[in-house]
Amino acid sequence: MRYGSLIKMLPLLLDQPVATWDLPRDQPYREKQIRTWILQRFVSSYDEMTDLSLPLRTSLASRFRLRAAEPITIQGSEDTTRKFLWKLGDGSLIESVLIPATLSKTGTRSARLTICVSSQVGCAYGCRFCASGLDGWRRNLTAAEIIGQVLEAARIAGRRADNLVFMGMGEPLANLPNLLSALDLLISPANIGMGARHVTISTSGLAPQIEELAHHPFPFRLALSLHAASDEVRDQIMPVNKRYPMERLLAACDIFIAARKKLIFFEYILLAGINDSPEQARLLAQHAKRLHAKVNLIPYNKVEGLPYERPTEDAIHLFCRTLLAAGVRATVRREKGHDIDAACGQLRLQKMQEDKKI
Ligand code: SF4
Repeated sequence: MRYGSLIKMLPLLLDQPVATWDLPRDQPYREKQIRTWILQRFVSSYDEMTDLSLPLRTSLASRFRLRAAEPITIQGSEDTTRKFLWKLGDGSLIESVLIPATLSKTGTRSARLTICVSSQVGCAYGCRFCASGLDGWRRNLTAAEIIGQVLEAARIAGRRADNLVFMGMGEPLANLPNLLSALDLLISPANIGMGARHVTISTSGLAPQIEELAHHPFPFRLALSLHAASDEVRDQIMPVNKRYPMERLLAACDIFIAARKKLIFFEYILLAGINDSPEQARLLAQHAKRLHAKVNLIPYNKVEGLPYERPTEDAIHLFCRTLLAAGVRATVRREKGHDIDAACGQLRLQKMQEDKKI
């Protein structure tokens, strides 16, 4: 599906059925104008579309909600990681994170910007260390709400992000149809034109959907939120492992890799005394070698109310060295973002708690 025409694109973007959308006679020209305002200039109101007639702007404003997500709270500044708390049309709250490029080995800073977006309101998967699942699952995001996070962040930052990662609130593969519709529009050169190679989809381990994605034409990257290297440990912290145990999950990844010939990533949050033992490191190295996976180690960031702790720096480095010694590519990641930062979901929880007190 390619959204070459506004009549297909706008209803998706604005969450409106096609039947309610009547375009003026000079449709192709208007289409291009409106597309540019929304997708390239990231406007937040129809009044800013100054090359449209006032009657057309008024008509659009009366029928189509332009912004799928509006900012409630913004933490951080232009040079640092910025965290956004968005309010959706039904009042639901979700989060995104905008992450500037980190310094490279040569000390230069690339101008690249990464956005980490949510795919659901809350999460049903209940990983024990994660704030996003603490209040349960409410609903899937629509394609417009997924795209809206990218557009609103671009408006605030003054430019669109180069990389897109689905590691925010929710399990992206549990909302696959809407995620793929959003990606279609985000990737299409006629619309937003984000490079598919700069899109990473993460999953806590939904094996059937990983197999389904193996044959999808987009060349996106897959990140597996593993967080433990044996069933015994994974069962303790990730309930999804009971449904799709390690061997089932790794077999799905075998299929993905055979079909795509693409590198996958293991995300591994290090929790003191839980999954940071030398034995877990050795097992993790075996899995990584089987799948030629690169391992991103993420020292845990404390979540208020949860019993987990960050390992010591010595323990983190020992774990990493064990992987490297086994010939596995591994890095310790310090940036923030969901899984990147297990505290994702905290802004939303705080806001919900404040609202309950009022
Ligand atoms: S880590 Fe991801 S899948 Fe697990 S509860 Fe949090 S948001 Fe859901």
